[in-house]
Amino acid sequence: MIETRELTKAYGRRVVVDAVSMAVGPGEFMVVLGPSGCGKSTILRMIAGLEDPTSGEVVLDNRVANQLSARDRGVAMVFQDFALYPHLTARENIAMPLRIAHAGARSLADDMRRVEQVAGYFGVADLLDRKPGQLSGGQRQRVAVARAIVRDPRAFLLDEPLSQVDAHLRQQLRREIARLARRLRVTTLYVTHDQQEALALADRIVVLESGRVRQIGTPQEISSDPADVFVAGFVGAAR
Ligand code: ATP
Ligand code: MG
Repeated sequence: MIETRELTKAYGRRVVVDAVSMAVGPGEFMVVLGPSGCGKSTILRMIAGLEDPTSGEVVLDNRVANQLSARDRGVAMVFQDFALYPHLTARENIAMPLRIAHAGARSLADDMRRVEQVAGYFGVADLLDRKPGQLSGGQRQRVAVARAIVRDPRAFLLDEPLSQVDAHLRQQLRREIARLARRLRVTTLYVTHDQQEALALADRIVVLESGRVRQIGTPQEISSDPADVFVAGFVGAAR
């Protein structure tokens, strides 16, 4: 369960995330939808522990997490540019979080079995010996998502993970991610500025504008009963 309470971030005097309160239930697939610059990545970074809030709280599994280091939060994040290590193979990239976490406490063979299992989920099991430079953009994306999920995260934060792949592959990958997140019952917060993507994937959508929540609801509620003119215009543009 991921919760934010009045979560706020200001850079100087500019408030970019403004008292955002939301709760993503266990196993829920929540999408944060809003235009470029509205604060989506900043919210994810605060939940992941990569950025300190100016005020407000991040609550993970009913525990205030503000003081926890990024490592101790148990949340996995896939970034907009998905940063793989270029000098490591796909196998080594996916294994990295396991190797760091166990620091030798678990056998390499066990870790490798786990790596092959998650690689299988994303159809990259045959590509594990290649380095990122020998993979297509879509394949790199799959490796990045596999790496994020390899440690059984408590929560899964995805920041526009499909922005670098072409439209056709994006549709396929987003369905795969949603299916897998549901199958594994991982609590997921997925950021996008693409209305159709949000409507297609979400259990519920948080619509954000200039750092503020405008509406939280199911795709059905958001499209049939928008809270205000902004939501109607922004989401309506998809239809
Ligand atoms: P996009 O869809 O383009 O990725 P976003 O919704 O993820 O946008 P954020 O990256 O969260 O937007 O940024 C929100 C606002 O905060 C933007 O106006 C951005 O310029 C500003 N911002 C982000 N990081 C900083 C920083 N370190 N210092 C100052 N301003 C920042
Ligand atoms: Mg962003």
